[in-house]
Amino acid sequence: MYFNEQTVVFLDGEFIRASDAKVGLYNQTMHYGNGVFEGIRSYDTPDGTRIFKAKEHFDRLHYSAKMMHIDLKYSSEELEKLSYELLEKNNLKDAYIRPLVYLGENMSLTPTNKVHIVIMAWEWGKYLGDNMLKVCLSSYQRPNPKSCHVEAKVVGHYTNSILATTEAKAKGFDEALLTDMNDNIAEGPGANFFFEKDGKFVTAPLGNILAGITRATVFELAKDLGFEVEERYFKASEIETADTAFFCGTAAEVVGIEQFNDYKFPMNWEDTNARMIQRRYKLRVSKNEYENLHI
Ligand code: PMP
Repeated sequence: MYFNEQTVVFLDGEFIRASDAKVGLYNQTMHYGNGVFEGIRSYDTPDGTRIFKAKEHFDRLHYSAKMMHIDLKYSSEELEKLSYELLEKNNLKDAYIRPLVYLGENMSLTPTNKVHIVIMAWEWGKYLGDNMLKVCLSSYQRPNPKSCHVEAKVVGHYTNSILATTEAKAKGFDEALLTDMNDNIAEGPGANFFFEKDGKFVTAPLGNILAGITRATVFELAKDLGFEVEERYFKASEIETADTAFFCGTAAEVVGIEQFNDYKFPMNWEDTNARMIQRRYKLRVSKNEYENLHI
């Protein structure tokens, strides 16, 4: 699904076949989860293939690396250029791009200067599908910002996400919603969360969540449409008074939620402001020219 015999990846300065890539067994990322990555999308637009918010993603990769004491030698501009080359070599237009910075041999709990970078790309549908989701409150909390850098996209942090999604699916739900260490709602395992009440959106403030690039895009779209967005803490019980809700993320894009625990959101998705955001998001990424939109 992710690669075949023809697939090319960028690995440490060269474009090679994915099937020829070799990774050492003693690498620190595999043993201890110290590595950083990004999830980026490109879209087939009228102006050609365009990577959406490439700079923001590669700048976040740099931030994540810095927080983990990883020396990433490539600039954001270089990484963007390499990603376009990678798409071309794989004949990909609408694609998901995964840069992963992983470390070499080091069995100590210390940083290492053996830094590797791989960039992979594949075709990927919307991560959480196209249908409205059933979401449950997770028994897991997002990592405490005093135990790690939650605003960094670190490989090891995703064990928390895997536990939460696995638990939600075992209970018959599509996805989980996690709290922060104070029992406020934080985010999903791989997406940020918004609810809508009386036409206004509410979402968790930065601090205990990943600062989503899609979340920032939703803020831009909402501003443009004249919809208010409140960033504040809220508990799970408040969601059960909301009209609708959605997840947003690069892989998931904007996806509506029909149910939270036993509570079914009362508003028809098609009539919500969230649906307008979802529509605008699709146009924004596929045209890449927000100013030129006249819909
Ligand atoms: N939260 C988490 C935990 C995530 O993994 C992601 C996906 N990167 C997001 C939020 C959404 O971030 P973005 O919009 O930048 O993809």
